[in-house]
Amino acid sequence: MTSPDVQSTTHADHRHPASLLKSWVEYARSGEYAYLCLQSARRRILGLRALQAQIQQCRRCPLHAQRKQAVLGVGDPFSPIVFVGEGPGAQEDIEGQPFVGRAGQLLTHALARFGIPRSKIYIANVVKCRPEGNRTPRMSEMEACFPYLKQQLALLRPRLIVTMGNPATQMILGRSGIMTLRGQWFRIGIVWIFPIYHPAFVLRNLK
Ligand code: URA
Repeated sequence: MTSPDVQSTTHADHRHPASLLKSWVEYARSGEYAYLCLQSARRRILGLRALQAQIQQCRRCPLHAQRKQAVLGVGDPFSPIVFVGEGPGAQEDIEGQPFVGRAGQLLTHALARFGIPRSKIYIANVVKCRPEGNRTPRMSEMEACFPYLKQQLALLRPRLIVTMGNPATQMILGRSGIMTLRGQWFRIGIVWIFPIYHPAFVLRNLK
């Protein structure tokens, strides 16, 4: 004889998708669902705020010595798309936001050409403090800062990460050689990775 539990499971498995949808809609309208969504949104915002405070105090690598401020990220923290660059430049160091200098203007322009407003994505960097003279961050600096990026991505939970340039691609995809990797799709679990050239590289080579 089948127990009532097993019977109800079997029944549920054979329900028509439309009735599953109806029950999902009912659940989505419920107070419990709204509460869970609010809780997870709150956790994400507070988590990012805590991370922001943490990086301002960070002294894990020599880059802290010359920074005006550490730069966490900017944009929609609920976007499924996160762009990751190298590290703040001079303007980013002053304004406290990534990609606000010339490379940032190109990025904004390129996004607009694809119909994506900059405000609809989230933008971060591998290192949170400016490398002097806008040099490429050293591996030791990227490794020291990587726990912050990992925490940031864990909070943002993107479905697509666009890595801009070699350092970001190396740290996130674990592979280097942007010339060959750019424009290819990679999937890690449920996250897609799409490496592209760094906008600063494009600016230098478009002259
Ligand atoms: N500005 C950033 O914030 N990151 C880069 O990688 C370059 C410029």
